[in-house]
Amino acid sequence: MSEQLSINQQNAAGQLTIGGVAASQLAEEFQTPLVAYDVTKIRDQIRRFKSVFEDNGVSYAVSYASKAFAAIAMYQVVDQEGGHIDVVSAGELYTAMQAGFPMANVSFHGNNKSREELELAVAQHVGVIVLDNFHEIELLDAVLAEANTAVRVMLRITPGISAHTHEYDQTGQEDSKFGFDLNSGQAARALQTVLKNPRMNMIGIHAHIGSQIFELNGFQMAAEKLVQVASDWRDQYGYQPSVINVGGGFGIRYTQADDPIAPEAFVDAIIKTIKQSASDHGLDLPAIWIEPGRSIVGPAGYNLYTIGSRKDVPGLTSYLTVDGGMGDNIRPALYQAGYEAVLADNPMGEPVETVHVAGKYCESGDILIDQQPLPESQPGDVLVMLDTGAYGYSMASNYNRNPRPAVVFVEKGQAQLVIKRETLADLTRLDQPYRPSTD
Ligand SMILES: *Cc1c(COP(=O)(O)O)cnc(C)c1O
Repeated sequence: MSEQLSINQQNAAGQLTIGGVAASQLAEEFQTPLVAYDVTKIRDQIRRFKSVFEDNGVSYAVSYASKAFAAIAMYQVVDQEGGHIDVVSAGELYTAMQAGFPMANVSFHGNNKSREELELAVAQHVGVIVLDNFHEIELLDAVLAEANTAVRVMLRITPGISAHTHEYDQTGQEDSKFGFDLNSGQAARALQTVLKNPRMNMIGIHAHIGSQIFELNGFQMAAEKLVQVASDWRDQYGYQPSVINVGGGFGIRYTQADDPIAPEAFVDAIIKTIKQSASDHGLDLPAIWIEPGRSIVGPAGYNLYTIGSRKDVPGLTSYLTVDGGMGDNIRPALYQAGYEAVLADNPMGEPVETVHVAGKYCESGDILIDQQPLPESQPGDVLVMLDTGAYGYSMASNYNRNPRPAVVFVEKGQAQLVIKRETLADLTRLDQPYRPSTD
């Protein structure tokens, strides 16, 4: 049984509740597969990251990395909590526009922003464009000249620090596809180029060292490195960044094997390191920005499935199949990511067996959970996968032409549909009939 399930997530009947509503009731009302978010958890997590900055009187931004889960409703909640957002595509930017999100609080990231994407970002007056490479600097210069305007920029650098985490998730090492390399002098060259450009208002430096990080150490090293860079740039070019952005990657608990650090502890360590380091180098304390994605939405999300067929391999193992899978959560198949699940109406029940929770997609690798202890279950029971809120729906696909699930936000006992379930008609909406040429 999962330790994550605190007692207040059950009702008097012993059912799992999400945002004050029984999970099985959500499944009945909105059908399965269903993605449900406990909105209070999202708000709490943003507030926890913000609180330490507030308590220390440090100028800051908590910029939600919206690739973890992007939707109009999500952007609205982030705005209500005073958060900023990172976007990485015209699609995320457009969604934020539709949400009425303040464009001044948007950071535009990406290692291959197209001219059209930069044009949209410039036309919308986004808060900052995080420059990643020399091609982009040229492209942005052309876009700004044509629009006869200016924009705030930051430089993303690869600080040569790799956090100790899953290989796919490492982005801080020198052979990363992201950012300007520090040690070869690329970053300094980018700085000089940008400082010469009157249309680019250079506000700071950015680094993102990885994802699902469980140690303070990586952030402390990155923070120290960024302050060191700021100090070098002041000495060599007379330029002092007013923002130091240490990125995201704060780890969360997916299974009992994970031992995450509290948001407050991460922020505290980052602030202390930057304060100390800035003071050592005689620099004014810059504003500190962070970019949590997974840690904002991961623990707040639940995937609800209905149990269907079952295959018992005598003497060996059992497969319990649900009505979703890799199309709504690719992470187990892609990264061997671990999750835990419970029965919606018997979340604390004593396990009587350990099963493979299998998806319905035509891939042997479509196993949502490799080893899940469960109480007795029947076809039709609702199974709830926990902590699925990050990189689940946002990576969803229509593989096997399955419609993507609906998403509901639940708060204070009220459930609201925020993304409709795709219909069969949606699946062929963009298809065009083929007419063989009759030469
Ligand atoms: C993905 C990403 C993040 C968020 O990472 P999480 O692991 O979801 O916290 C933050 N900043 C940048 C630049 C990213 O690419």
